[in-house]
Amino acid sequence: MRDDLRALEGYHSVQVAADVRLNTNESPFPPPAGWREELATALHDVAWHRYPDRQATALRAAIAAWHGVPGERVFAANGSNEVLQSLLLAYAGLGRRVLTFEPSYQMHAQIARVTGAAVVAGERRADFTLDPADAVALVGEARPAITFLCSPNNPTGIVEPPETVNALLDAVPGLLVIDEAYAQFAGWSALDLVADDRPLVVVRTFSKTWSMAAARLGYCVAPAWAVEALELVALPYHLDAATQIAGRLALDHVDAMDARVGQIVAGRERIAAGLAAVDVDVVPSGANFVLFRPRRAGGRAVWQALVDRGVLVRDCSSWPRLDDCLRVTVGTPEENERFLAALGEALAEVTS
Ligand SMILES: *Cc1c(COP(=O)(O)O)cnc(C)c1O
Repeated sequence: MRDDLRALEGYHSVQVAADVRLNTNESPFPPPAGWREELATALHDVAWHRYPDRQATALRAAIAAWHGVPGERVFAANGSNEVLQSLLLAYAGLGRRVLTFEPSYQMHAQIARVTGAAVVAGERRADFTLDPADAVALVGEARPAITFLCSPNNPTGIVEPPETVNALLDAVPGLLVIDEAYAQFAGWSALDLVADDRPLVVVRTFSKTWSMAAARLGYCVAPAWAVEALELVALPYHLDAATQIAGRLALDHVDAMDARVGQIVAGRERIAAGLAAVDVDVVPSGANFVLFRPRRAGGRAVWQALVDRGVLVRDCSSWPRLDDCLRVTVGTPEENERFLAALGEALAEVTS
């Protein structure tokens, strides 16, 4: 194995048995029944002895039409993580630098390192917001080939304001990549800023808002020249026929998916209100999860007390810059109530 890989740790989410699983930011709602039926029918007719459409033409055209952008600005892959890997392969790699602002989605730095790039970690303020002037100054020093933002940011839920995006767009010497895995839960997206004369790439996924984590489908909207670079590094026929069909058919169910997003946003507001009534600090979220920090109890102890009550959330308490923080994914209305009730009991138990 490469020596530089020995220092890396894999990315895992601790899985323990629990009735209420609110730890991986998946949708609590399955996709529409109509989509499942259409998919089953369509899979019957796949010419399995042939390679799939290498360009995923129909899928990319459908995504592009949904967003109102030209087809040549869309690249699709196996989950947005493969989109991120392709961007890093095409634009970063050995001898180049990648800039992240921590805390953020760990896979940006992880895939950057695996693909040979050096990672420069910028800092956020104590409230997890980013100072645009600090960010621009760091871009000037580090001269990164790729600068990552995540909006809404995982694990904080904070939506990056347009001023920060615009300030970075004016400053970056390479690409600005915005991971918008949770954008449909938020009020603002950078998607409309993508143009052939701007070094901006917006990455999206079907895993969260589309209730399709099992399908492994992600994409980006990018300048046409960046899509050409991504096609150069993608493996031949990387996107299989079933995934292409699953994504294309999903786009016939936009209204049903929007309704699910609306329900989850309502659940997030319910959780935020419940958290405001107990002894925790809450980070304002534009995503399908909420980060919070018990004020008078250890995060790890509260996590364990929740597990003891059958509720699993993400334990971020030992992650750098996230001391004592826990992240709860919005679930069904019943799951949200169970979480809030369990948290009340857990805080009472471990607060001394
Ligand atoms: C969940 C998540 C993804 C999704 O990855 P897929 O490979 O599309 O499932 C990407 N970025 C962030 C920030 C996420 O939280």
